[in-house]
Parts: sequence; C-alpha cells; structure tokens
Amino acid sequence: MRVGCPKEIKNHEYRVGLTPGAVREYVAHGHEVIIETQAGAGIGADDSSYIAAGAKIVGSAKEIFERSDMVVKVKEPQPAEWAQLRDGQILYTYLHLAPDPEQTKGLLASGVTAVAYETVTDERGGLPLLAPMSEVAGRLAIQAGATALQKANGGRGILLGGVPGVLPAKVTVIGGGVVGLQSARMAVGLGADVTILDRSLPRLRQLDEMFHGRIHTRYSTIDALEEEVYFADLVIGAVLIPGAAAPKLVTREMLTGMRKGAVIVDVAIDQGGCFETSHATTHSDPTYEVDGVIHYCVANMPGAVPVTSAHALNNATLVHGLALADRGLRAIAEDRHLRNGLNIHRGKVTNKPVAEALGYDV
Ligand code: NAD
Repeated sequence: MRVGCPKEIKNHEYRVGLTPGAVREYVAHGHEVIIETQAGAGIGADDSSYIAAGAKIVGSAKEIFERSDMVVKVKEPQPAEWAQLRDGQILYTYLHLAPDPEQTKGLLASGVTAVAYETVTDERGGLPLLAPMSEVAGRLAIQAGATALQKANGGRGILLGGVPGVLPAKVTVIGGGVVGLQSARMAVGLGADVTILDRSLPRLRQLDEMFHGRIHTRYSTIDALEEEVYFADLVIGAVLIPGAAAPKLVTREMLTGMRKGAVIVDVAIDQGGCFETSHATTHSDPTYEVDGVIHYCVANMPGAVPVTSAHALNNATLVHGLALADRGLRAIAEDRHLRNGLNIHRGKVTNKPVAEALGYDV
C-alpha cells in the first residue's frame, strides 16, 4: 500500500502523523511511504531523517492526497483537506466528529473510509489511542500549575516540594484516571502533599496500592471536594464521564472559599471543564483569574510539547496503522476494536454514538 502523511495545517499544530521511526516500520512491512516536505519540522525531524527511514519526500499536500491509499494524520481534516480525500482511500487520524457536522458532511461526500483514533478501543474497555495524550496532559498539568503558582505569574508563591523545614504545597487531583494518575506521579515526584478524589472505590484502592501510602485518597463527595479545594494550593481537574460533558464539580461559590493565589488546572476543559468558572484558553494566553484563583484551561495541552506528544501518539497508532496498511478493509472487518474506530465508510456514518449525536442512521 502507498501510505502518505501531509504536514498538519491546523493552527499551532506541530505534531506529525508519522515519525521517522514509524515510517521505518511501514517500510519494513513492504509499504511505500510518502511524506510532505517539512511535515516533521515541528518535532525537529527534517526531510533527510525521513529519507533515511525509507520515505520519499513530496513537495505538496496535494500530491499526498492524490497518490496515497492511506493518509495518516494527527488532527481532523480541515476543509481544504477533506475536499481532497476520495472514494476508496483510508484516512487514519483524530476526527472528533460528534460536535462537527461540517467535517462529517465533508467526509461523507468524499467517499473516504475514516478511522478515528479516539474511538478505537482495547480489551480492557479503554481508549488506547487517546490515553497517551491524557498521559502527556496529566504530567504537563503539574508543570503548568507549578509555573502559575509563582508570584510573578499571579500565584501564591509556593514551591510544590517546599524545602527542609518548610511544608510542601497541597495538590488536589479530582479524578484518578489516566490524567489524574500522571498528575499525581509528577506532584509526588516533586515532593508535594497529594490527595486524589474519585467516584470509583476500586480505582482509589488501586491508586492507594500504587503509591505505597505516598498519597491520600478520598471518595469524591461534595463535602470532601469542598474541604480539599479550600486548603489546596493547586487543584487539577481530571474527571471524565465517557460520552458526557464534564460535571461542574467545583462551583463559583466554592471558589470564594479557596486560598488567594491558588491555581486550578482544568484538564477536563476539552469536555467543558469541571469548574464552573472555567473557559477554554490557548497556549499563547493560558491563564486568567477569578476571585483571586488562577485558572489554566488550555484545551490542547499536548500541543505544548509536540516532540513528546508526536512520539507518544505514534507509539499508540502504529500497530493498527500497520494492520490497515497490510490488510486494508479486512483489518477493520477482522478486529472489533479497530472497527469501533471506523466512523465513516463510503458515504455512511458507521459509529453509533457519532451517528446519534449528529442525527444520522447507522
Ligand atoms: P479517565 O476516564 O481515565 O479518568 C476519569 C476519572 O474521573 C475516572 O477515574 C472516573 O472514575 C473519575 N470521575 C468521574 N466522575 C467523578 C467525580 N464526580 N469525582 C471524581 N472523579 C470522578 O479519563 P482521562 O483520560 O484521565 O481524562 C480526563 C479528562 O482530561 C477528560 O476530559 C479528557 O478529555 C481530558 N484531557 C484533556 C486534555 C487537554 O489537553 N486539555 C488532554 C487529554 C485529556
């Protein structure tokens, strides 16, 4: 199969669908790989590193879309991209179609077979192609929070780990899933006093065992939340209710009880956020203040660290990408987890939740 990867064109997107390491794997499987010139520039992978991995470099995205049997990307296709997709071609990328009727119409009209990273499943009921970005965001949340806590940035001026003789900062993590676990790891590593709240007791037991008593766990009730956020220096919002908007767990009223200069990092902002006062921000202007509390609510946190994010993404997408390149549509027919990733096929919406969200028949 001929596999192509264009340079991402969405604003501030620096990741790339195929790293040179991934290209080498496709080539080892006997596939031809074409890469748009400069596609890897955002992660420091120049054209020569792709050539060394066995790819051919082409001068334009147009050539990638015209000549590829499968197009591998990162972000959902933009209007100029979906206009170039065609019948019989496979598109393998993040799509997030449910809130995006325009893109859905564009993909349906193109006739493309589109596999969305975010709906591919695994044996444990997880979303393995989404998890690496949660891992990145979870770890980054502590770096972002620590920076915002500095006095010059509006924060309380407290060092997460304290120093000998001075208490560390209190970090409260709401939601102990993938994001929450990685945030807790980073905060514990820096010496902070960490509490994780979750609604799942089995998950709290698991976290308790993982950290050997280095964190506190609490069942997430209104009472517990209130107590924790009032004393916290840094609060990480990391809840997820699959398929739903994030619940507004920390109300505007609770905010008034928080310490002045405390920081909220609402990682769940891509699902609407779990603080009533959250609204999405960007990397160029990431924070704002409400009632003396600093809010960091960047909706695409992994975009800040494209080198790490692109490699983490490629690690997660490679196996299914190779299966698609090796066996084409048969790979989808034979693997129910990959089939869960199929969102659009030859003019039809094929994913139930997406179809329901947009009012199509499955
Ligand atoms: P996850 O499913 O692994 O974990 C979510 C956890 O929230 C679960 O353990 C669940 O039990 C818990 N939870 C649900 N309701 C709760 C409540 N009332 N109180 C406390 N805990 C509760 O999800 P994840 O992968 O960790 O993702 C968390 C959020 O981060 C999602 O909204 C995801 O979209 C978002 N995210 C954002 C970015 C970004 O750039 N901003 C990047 C990656 C992920």
